[in-house]
Amino acid sequence: MYYDKWVEIDTDAIKYNLLQVQSRIPEEVRLIAVLKAQAYGHGAAEVARILYQNGVDFFAVSYLSEAMQLRNGGIRASILLFTPLIDYYQIKEAVENYITMAITSLYDAELLEEFAGGINQPVTVHLKIETGLGRFGLNAEEAAEICQKLSGYSNIYIEGIYTHMAEGGAANSRYTKRQFKKFQRVVQILEEAGYNIPVKHVANSAVFLKYPDMHLNAVRIGTLLSGQHPVADIKNPLQLVDPYKFKTHVIAIKNHKAGDYLGYSRTWRLADDAQVAVIPVGYYDGLALEVANQPTGWMDLFKRMVKMLLAYLNIRRFQLTVRIKGKSYPIRGKVFMQMALIEIPQDMVVNIGDEVELPIRKTLVADNTVRIYIKSGRAGKQGDIYRTSYLAGEE
Ligand SMILES: *Cc1c(COP(=O)(O)O)cnc(C)c1O
Repeated sequence: MYYDKWVEIDTDAIKYNLLQVQSRIPEEVRLIAVLKAQAYGHGAAEVARILYQNGVDFFAVSYLSEAMQLRNGGIRASILLFTPLIDYYQIKEAVENYITMAITSLYDAELLEEFAGGINQPVTVHLKIETGLGRFGLNAEEAAEICQKLSGYSNIYIEGIYTHMAEGGAANSRYTKRQFKKFQRVVQILEEAGYNIPVKHVANSAVFLKYPDMHLNAVRIGTLLSGQHPVADIKNPLQLVDPYKFKTHVIAIKNHKAGDYLGYSRTWRLADDAQVAVIPVGYYDGLALEVANQPTGWMDLFKRMVKMLLAYLNIRRFQLTVRIKGKSYPIRGKVFMQMALIEIPQDMVVNIGDEVELPIRKTLVADNTVRIYIKSGRAGKQGDIYRTSYLAGEE
């Protein structure tokens, strides 16, 4: 089978990263592996399967559709949903598939009661407490009210309580500690009212590495398992391997003269005679897209402006480059919707069909891009995986 472009995922690297993370988790603390956004671009069901085979029995995702993808992929372990379900039929689907739901407001608690009151099936929930991220969650009074209401249903089990940190990676720990204190206070109020919720968790990747005293009973790890460190001030990083590579082929190559222009609006003019290769990947595939968030402060704004300036001045380290046969070459001109141009010096040998590795953010890769899974050097395709037991190591 021939692909225009594909993502390669090294399953041995995923396993290795898991071992690295596990080496820092005390025995009494559970690992909740966060597999949202296709396991950060690596393919949720496939990654879940690798992790499950290596002892992970608790997963989390943002949306019901993501949870169902895991269930349909044969994952039987616990799956926690981070977002509230706001529709009766969504709740029905979640309950029927043993999905653990987050209760984030009185609204979703009432909807759950409406549904769960009429059935015998067990329903497991975690209470989400808002402590300073501003996304969603309960305050102490709401949590107490919900505990009181839900404890009237013998089939509803409040298994967990959690919150999410706004700046766990920041050098200054004050806000994180304040959020933690607020969370502990809610837990205490509930315990004084007689509600003991067994699984408590607040730590994402950054908090996990920086605050061992905030591990509680469970940690929710996504970024580290995907082979990267969070943007954080971390003194004791793990050894991680990025399992991901985005690849394509050269589809055309042509000799050009010094002075020739490249691309729309003629933003690039060749300084020397060169070969120009075309690859079938553009901004539609996530190439050259910067995530357009507001700068976090003056320093961040300044850094971004300097980076743009250096890229404009064509300083090599700030150019967008690709790799072909182990060498790196710059992308030139404006990236097209579905193509891009690469400058290759006259004396280098590059041919049509040569493999090209590209710097595309794993979370921006289009959902329909094929993922090829590599295990001990052998390749298997997404989707074949369950049937061929390729990941199961049963060959
Ligand atoms: C994404 C997410 C995580 C995982 O965060 P990482 O920093 O990627 O480990 C944990 N908890 C919640 C609620 C999340 O949304």
